[in-house]
Amino acid sequence: MKKTLIVIDYTNDFVADKGALTCGVPGQAIDTNIVTLANKFFANHDCIIFPTDLHTQDDPYHPETKLFPPHNLANTWGRKLFGNVGKWFDLHKNNEEIYFYDKNRYSAFANTNLENFLRTHHIEELYLCGVCTDICVLHTAIDAYNKNFKITIPQNAVASFNQTGHEWALDHFKTSLGAKII
Ligand code: ZN
Repeated sequence: MKKTLIVIDYTNDFVADKGALTCGVPGQAIDTNIVTLANKFFANHDCIIFPTDLHTQDDPYHPETKLFPPHNLANTWGRKLFGNVGKWFDLHKNNEEIYFYDKNRYSAFANTNLENFLRTHHIEELYLCGVCTDICVLHTAIDAYNKNFKITIPQNAVASFNQTGHEWALDHFKTSLGAKII
């Protein structure tokens, strides 16, 4: 069965100390774990996908404008991938296994061509990592479940600013979405 690694929203705004909407230390602690996974997938010629939140400042039509401070604005430092993951991406981004795309909702499936990409590449198993466990990773996992993809969550490669939400989501992945937690 073909698999892929999906690295969700691992940007400066969501991870760095000065990020606009940061997970902080728990987010930074998974940096090298994501790189280790990326190297494994890359060595196996499996795809590595980077769905990355994109916003415009004070967008009156976007529901997140009322919920969160401005984040992941186009062409800003905040939207660049964080740390070693960012360096890894810069080194490998021109390879055909790497797919970076913009998303505008929590789920990596919402309003994007992710499902087409996965179906045309005959990928059935998704390894989800990145941030936040209980927001964008969760919503992506729910959509993946509804579309009959198999889900694996490497628990040392997801994080949240909310430890209670993080633990709740890990349990939900396992007990309600049938995900393998590794
Ligand atoms: Zn957002």
